[in-house]
Amino acid sequence: MGNMNALAPRMRSIKQSPTAAVSARARELKQQGQSIINLGEGELDFDTPDHVSEAGIAAIKDGETRYTPVAGTDELKKAIVDKFSRENGLQYEPQQVIANAGAKQIIFNALLATVGEGDEVIVPVPSWVSYPDIVTLCGGTPVLVSCGEEVDFKLTAGALEAAITPRTKWLILNNPNNPTGSVYSADDMRALGDVLVANPGVFILSDDIYEHIVYETPFATIAHVEPALLDRTLTVNGVSKVFSMTGWRLGYAGGPKWLIDAIEVLTSQSTTNAASITQSAAVAALNGPLDFFAPRLEALQKRRDTVLQMLPQTQGRLSSNTPKGAFYVYANCAGMIGAKTPGGTRIESDVDAATYLLESAGVALVPGAAFNYSPYLRIAFAIDDENLKEACERIVEACRRLMN
Ligand code: PLP
Repeated sequence: MGNMNALAPRMRSIKQSPTAAVSARARELKQQGQSIINLGEGELDFDTPDHVSEAGIAAIKDGETRYTPVAGTDELKKAIVDKFSRENGLQYEPQQVIANAGAKQIIFNALLATVGEGDEVIVPVPSWVSYPDIVTLCGGTPVLVSCGEEVDFKLTAGALEAAITPRTKWLILNNPNNPTGSVYSADDMRALGDVLVANPGVFILSDDIYEHIVYETPFATIAHVEPALLDRTLTVNGVSKVFSMTGWRLGYAGGPKWLIDAIEVLTSQSTTNAASITQSAAVAALNGPLDFFAPRLEALQKRRDTVLQMLPQTQGRLSSNTPKGAFYVYANCAGMIGAKTPGGTRIESDVDAATYLLESAGVALVPGAAFNYSPYLRIAFAIDDENLKEACERIVEACRRLMN
């Protein structure tokens, strides 16, 4: 149990990441001998490309095992500057970029450096689980703006305008989006850009971590679409998703020098630098070819379609629009609410729906409540085809067992 009273008051405002909680419960059931298929995790089953792993191994052998400059090695910063220029049309000086141990640490440090008591941060929901909690931990107020299925889960210019107050410090934009897979087109961005240009006090955190995982709509990032916003936008990215490097821990950002400097100060007082070996691997990743990703993207699109084809077989229990990016289907489960399980329990919420599918069908999904938008279930299609098909069959059967 421990002594809860010994914890600082700030710990009352945050909780463990709910996605980690689902995985923990799934592991528990697995250990008890149940067959569990985990569609809860935001992690691809692909391997880190060989040329990237080799660069990490070479770094160990070459003795690159010491502290590095806080913001990253010169080679890595150059690779980041070049990446932003080549792929995003964003021009940064080396002093305007920084690497951290994951995009998550960049976001954490950026908000810790800027958000205080009374500051508001606009978070379009459904959103990635960590944004509101980090804002709260920093003493700020997350302003959750609902973006429903009818607007493809995307923030509209009108909704943004209505949410801005004199206290608004940041808008967080995540494109492509976790958990919905929605992708903002350049036109969508332009409309938001117009509102932001008219509100010069608002900074923009653009979380582009799923940049390369787009199926139909081409990727666009706000500081490129609206260059007038460049000096108040933090463009965040990382190697976790596209290079399947979640465990290596490396994220990076480009932005105004004053903000990058502040992130550097926080890094110097906490983790010092991203792992030296990882930095060398990231140089190889960012400077290297991206063609390895084309067959992976194709495989992901097929998996997305497998999930989308399954939904109509659930007899109205689950439905979804077509996600244009990332590797998530955000399925509406309103059709499960009010139904009775074979055990006689009434499903009252998406948490109940996820619990039912986990306990009775052995499929782990994250309920929409985790993303502040219910009643939905996030289906991560980050696993191999065979298991995904099996999971889909199990979901269909479990839905058919429900009674109204
Ligand atoms: N941002 C979003 C939207 C994510 O979904 C994730 C990971 O799931 C991250 C950031 C964190 O990425 P990293 O592994 O670089 O910390």
